Amino acid sequence: MSGPQHAAPRPSLAVWKFASCDGCQLTLLDCEDELMAVTDRVEIAYFLEASSAVVEGPYDLSLVEGSITTAVDAERIKEVRRQSRTLITIGACATAGGIQALRNFGDVEELLRIVYATPEFLSTLGTSTPISDHVEVDLELRGCPIDRRQLLEVIGAVLAGRKPAIGDHSVCVECKARHNTCVLVAHGTPCLGPVTHAGCGALCPSFHRGCYGCFGPSEGADIAAMTSVLRAQGMSEDEILRLFHTFNAWSEGFREPPVGPVPVALSPSRLSPSRLSPREDRP
Ligand code: SF4
Ligand code: SF4
Ligand code: SF4
Repeated sequence: MSGPQHAAPRPSLAVWKFASCDGCQLTLLDCEDELMAVTDRVEIAYFLEASSAVVEGPYDLSLVEGSITTAVDAERIKEVRRQSRTLITIGACATAGGIQALRNFGDVEELLRIVYATPEFLSTLGTSTPISDHVEVDLELRGCPIDRRQLLEVIGAVLAGRKPAIGDHSVCVECKARHNTCVLVAHGTPCLGPVTHAGCGALCPSFHRGCYGCFGPSEGADIAAMTSVLRAQGMSEDEILRLFHTFNAWSEGFREPPVGPVPVALSPSRLSPSRLSPREDRP
């Protein structure tokens, strides 16, 4: 006679937040129908955006949102890594430093003085950096926010022990697959689709808008060729620089597009090692 049957334990999932807007975590909650299927297959062990109930680690899969902007978080991410068998970063903040990485091009002390009435109470690093600058990352999922289909594909792949089917081609490939008229060629609308990582299904061009690169650079992106095309469309050097310097400004591909002289406040030449190193914590 056989003994009592026990269900196999489900793999545990943890979702962590660093400097971010929570939009990428919300993508998981937005999965709606699929979320029930996910919770059937994984135990949501740590996800403060969804529940205050916490199961102790270690965790089989950690999703990490947000960038590192404080000394405390620079230590916390090491502990998250220690507790995670697989660690996947989600979104532009976690994979490229996010919009908050614009501080990396300037003087954070000056920004603190301008923005906050009492900056002496703040404790921050001089930079916003991606998670991969601090710990080993198993996979990066791009976008601001991430795409829910890609998120579900990655979770399913990790559970099945296979490689996720996430392409590294450009938005243009997705745009052509949707038979869109090219807004860049037909209307002269600036579009970063040729150098931007696929994943959104060419959302913006499908609504006759140019891509502004929220998925960051695609594999082998030819940034020099892209800037030449934008220049030929009549964009000024600082307009081109501003187009690249949004959510993925600190990504390797978009950080220093080859533009001519621009106003001092915007110039990549303002980058200097002293500006990029963490500042001392305030007392
Ligand atoms: S990548 Fe965008 S949506 Fe995701 S947390 Fe950062 S700012 Fe929010
Ligand atoms: S609209 Fe943009 S993404 Fe679409 S084909 Fe043209 S350049 Fe590429
Ligand atoms: S088209 Fe470009 S800007 Fe629009 S959602 Fe896709 S990657 Fe982001």
